[in-house]
Amino acid sequence: EQKAIATPKRTKEILEKYGFSFKKSLGQNFLIDVNILKNLIHNAGITKDMNALEIGPGIGALTEQLAIAANKVVAFEIDGRLLPILEDTLQAYDNIELINKDILKADFEEIWEQYFQDANPVKIVANLPYYITTPILMQLLMANLPISSITVMMQKEVAERMAATENTKEYGSLSIAIQYYTEARVKMVVPKTVFMPQPRVDSAVLHLEKRATPPVTVEDEEFFFQLVQASFQQRRKTLRNNLSRHFKDKLAKPQIEEGFEHAEINGTRRGESLNMQEFATLANYFKQQIK
Ligand code: SAM
Repeated sequence: EQKAIATPKRTKEILEKYGFSFKKSLGQNFLIDVNILKNLIHNAGITKDMNALEIGPGIGALTEQLAIAANKVVAFEIDGRLLPILEDTLQAYDNIELINKDILKADFEEIWEQYFQDANPVKIVANLPYYITTPILMQLLMANLPISSITVMMQKEVAERMAATENTKEYGSLSIAIQYYTEARVKMVVPKTVFMPQPRVDSAVLHLEKRATPPVTVEDEEFFFQLVQASFQQRRKTLRNNLSRHFKDKLAKPQIEEGFEHAEINGTRRGESLNMQEFATLANYFKQQIK
C-alpha cells in the first residue's frame, strides 16, 4: 500500500510537484491527518458494500480513504487544475470516478443513472468548501436524493447551528430547515491544525441521517419555512411582534391571536423557544386563514 496523501509531507510534495497554489475563493483547505479522515469515514458508516459521493476531492486525501473503505467513489471537483493531479495521486485505485463540475450544477438523475445503478446504498461524505456549506447541503436535501446519510466536515459554528435544539442560542431557521429533512448530530470538533492551509475557524464533523418522512406534517413547505424565518427575524422580539410585522398585509391582529390560541402558544414567547411541531401547527393554521 502506498503512503497516504493526507500527511503534511506528502501533501507538500504533491503541491510542489505541480506548482499548485490554493484558491481561497474555492475554500481550498486540504486535510493532512489520516486519523481524522478515518474517523470521518467511520462516522459516515461507510463499508465495502456502499457507494460514496464526494464533494471537492482537492488532491485526493479523503477520496483515497473512501476508495479503500467503500465500493465506489464519485467525486465532484470544480477546479480543473486539480484533475491531472488527482489522476496521478489516485492512480492506484480503479473504483473512483472524477467529475470536473460545480456540485451546485450537478444533474443528479444523470449521475445516478451513470454511476449508481448497483444496489449499494449511497452516502455523501465530504470536507466541504466552507464558503458554500449551507447552499450545498440545502440543495442536496431538497433534491430528495436516494441517499441514506450525509457526513461532512464544515465550520464548527455552522454545524452547531444546524444540529441545535430549541432554547439554545444556536437554534434558528437553519436548524429547522436541516432537521426537517434529517436527524443532525455534531460528531467531533476538529482543530485548525489538521488542514493545509489552516482555516481561520474551528471545524466539526456533522452527521445528517436522512428521514424517511418529515417529523411534522406541513401543508405548505414554502409557507412553513417562511413563517419559521419570520419568527427569527429579530431574535429578541416576541413571536407576536415578528409575525404581526411579517404578515401585516395578510393577517389581521385578531387572526394572529387566534393562531396562538389554536396552537396553545403564548404570543410573548420568542421564536427560539418553539419546537418544530409548534411552528408546523402555527403555519398550518395561518395558511388556512390566508387562503
Ligand atoms: N477533500 C479535500 C481534502 O479534504 O483535503 C479538499 C477539501 S477542500 C475544503 C474543498 C474542495 O472543494 C476544494 O478542492 C475545492 O476546489 C472544491 N470545491 C469548491 N467549490 C466547489 C463546488 N462548487 N463544486 C465542487 N467542488 C468544489
